[in-house]
Amino acid sequence: MTLVLDVTTMLLMIAAASLAMAVSLAVARPQRSEGTDLWALGLVLHAATYVLYALRGTVSDWASIVLSNMLLSGTVALSLGAVYQFRGQALPWARMLVPVVVTTALFAVFIDDYRVRIMVTGALGPAQLGLVLWALWRPQPLAQRRGAWLLTVGAGLQFLLLVVRGVLAAMHAIPLDGLLRISPMQSFVFMAAFVVVILASLGFILMTKDRADADNRYFAAHDELTGAANRRALTQALDRDAARAVRAGESYALMMLDIDHFKAVNDTHGHHAGDQVLCHVAAVLRARLRAQDLVGRYGGEEFMLLLPDTTLAGAAALAETLREAMEQTPCLHEGRSIAVTVSIGVCGAHLQSAGGWDQLIQAADQALYRAKAAGRNRVECAGLPRRVHS
Ligand code: GH3
Ligand code: MG
Ligand code: MG
Repeated sequence: MTLVLDVTTMLLMIAAASLAMAVSLAVARPQRSEGTDLWALGLVLHAATYVLYALRGTVSDWASIVLSNMLLSGTVALSLGAVYQFRGQALPWARMLVPVVVTTALFAVFIDDYRVRIMVTGALGPAQLGLVLWALWRPQPLAQRRGAWLLTVGAGLQFLLLVVRGVLAAMHAIPLDGLLRISPMQSFVFMAAFVVVILASLGFILMTKDRADADNRYFAAHDELTGAANRRALTQALDRDAARAVRAGESYALMMLDIDHFKAVNDTHGHHAGDQVLCHVAAVLRARLRAQDLVGRYGGEEFMLLLPDTTLAGAAALAETLREAMEQTPCLHEGRSIAVTVSIGVCGAHLQSAGGWDQLIQAADQALYRAKAAGRNRVECAGLPRRVHS
């Protein structure tokens, strides 16, 4: 089989693929850009690059050689910027601009020497791609691994082919009759460019999608303000933990914790300070719980703590520690120190059935009510009337 490839057609297909991916990115754009805009802009530059290549001989060499390669270098620079933006980092202007300026200058100087231009691309292209890969995997790899891998395969393929072509050109080992003359090497490089556009762009789209999915999973289970578990996650944990406690015959404890005179905090210091106090309380609680415990925001300024494998006495002691810690750790807000105390109702028992947790909540709630009635900044405990059935 002989592979008959028409160079102009290939170049225009790369341009078309780039534009198609740019449109796909614009459609798939997440609410916050997260680098998608820069990546799409890079693809538009990429399309322009290959249209200018296809016009070699028709338009001036300055356009088809110097401008086009400036745009190509700009494509990779924008990809680098996109990865930085995706990571929430400031754009690395020097790393983005210097390679573009150097590429443009070298192509202007060697406008008449195709071999040297191939060698320049063989050195600067991989260097730029290396910066993109470095940004993806260092210092820590992104959480969105599969998208990053796809992007890496694409960029890595391009990296290898550019290096090989550059080295072969330097060794006079490949025919160099100009861009529009087909050769096996040239065919490989253009096919790779076609594949790379698709792989790398899909990789980037996948990264944004995976991150959006992770955010959705997080916010489905967490309170946005305090980062504590939300009510839905609490209920799920109660179902799971209570069933396990019944199976294992372990005691299960639960606390209801309510901030004292919280309305006064809002009224005196403002709603913003109130929000800060809520975060402060959640942080103080989290810092003192074991890994298997769960703290969640049950309502406005009311938190629920789930304590697997804990007796009522153990939970009561922990509640007292938490109450004290809260009393001794005021919340700092805009240079002011806001005193925070909490009242806690505790209940712990050996549940007889997984559904028995409902009664734990009721008992803890009543204990909390007693703590409030008795003057606040207190812990009150409740057992369950002998055996719990649901
Ligand atoms: P007590 O000691 O009896 O618990 O008194 P309290 O003032 O803490 O209780 P109350 O139920 O009267 O007030 C709760 C207040 O919590 C009222 C509401 O405006 C405030 N609140 C609820 N959710 C939020 C929130 O997300 N942010 C802020 N800043 N305030 C909130
Ligand atoms: Mg309160
Ligand atoms: Mg309340």
